[in-house]
Amino acid sequence: MNDPIIRFDNVVKRFGDHTVLDELNFDIRKGEKVTIIGPSGSGKSTVLRILMTLEGIEGGVVHVGGEPLWHEHGPVGLVPASQAHLHRMRGQLGMVFQQFNLFPHMTVLRNITEAPVKVLGLGKAEARDRAEELLELVGLSDHAQKYPHQLSGGQQQRVGIARALAMRPNILLFDEPTSALDPELVGEVLNVIGQLSEEHDLTMLLVTHEMRFAREISDRILFFDQGRIVEEGSPAQLFTSPQRERTREFLGSEL
Ligand code: ADP
Ligand code: MG
Repeated sequence: MNDPIIRFDNVVKRFGDHTVLDELNFDIRKGEKVTIIGPSGSGKSTVLRILMTLEGIEGGVVHVGGEPLWHEHGPVGLVPASQAHLHRMRGQLGMVFQQFNLFPHMTVLRNITEAPVKVLGLGKAEARDRAEELLELVGLSDHAQKYPHQLSGGQQQRVGIARALAMRPNILLFDEPTSALDPELVGEVLNVIGQLSEEHDLTMLLVTHEMRFAREISDRILFFDQGRIVEEGSPAQLFTSPQRERTREFLGSEL
């Protein structure tokens, strides 16, 4: 549980002249469950998108599993990472999106088997067996042949979780996985995430506004504001006795 599996080292991210992440530093250890909270626009999704290599960075280094994500050391210092390197690094991570992002024209089963077959080169039968196990895990065994539009939002998101797990990531990222759901469907998705949080080998980085849930499952909370970590600590510290005025103000507004 001691090696950092994710490390942001003075990471700078800009969109035009807007600096979104301003020399951001943090570490996440293997197996840790960490929740990022913070106001809209504070850079939470950007952190996850950088880890998924959906965004580049303008400064600093991101390490995943002890290796730099975007740059490698070459004969002349840091050189841009190769596609093969990015592909291998990305394989360690899975992401669950706010808007589910399922393929609408594919069945639930195919949504889950597609990437393992195409990207990992798994045999179809093996991918299907694995998908069926995962559907059981998320409580959707009876829905394998349905299309996303035939499912509720909560069911679609549970497929999204199964799909991310099908790639056997070491690290699972969640970007406000329940924000698009009707309130009565939030619990079923949180239950699945809560179950996953008990897997000791799986590292989880979660962005959510579900403060009670974050408190229950997280080892550590990072409070973001304007592309910086204002405060971090155990859920008990951060929620019960926040040290910074900005944290108190944010938590007050979320209650
Ligand atoms: P959060 O997830 O905390 O709400 P984001 O990481 O999505 O915040 O965004 C942080 C800031 O970066 C916001 O000001 C947002 O408008 C800006 N931003 C995010 N993505 C882009 C983009 N593709 N182009 C320009 N600005 C962006
Ligand atoms: Mg966001």
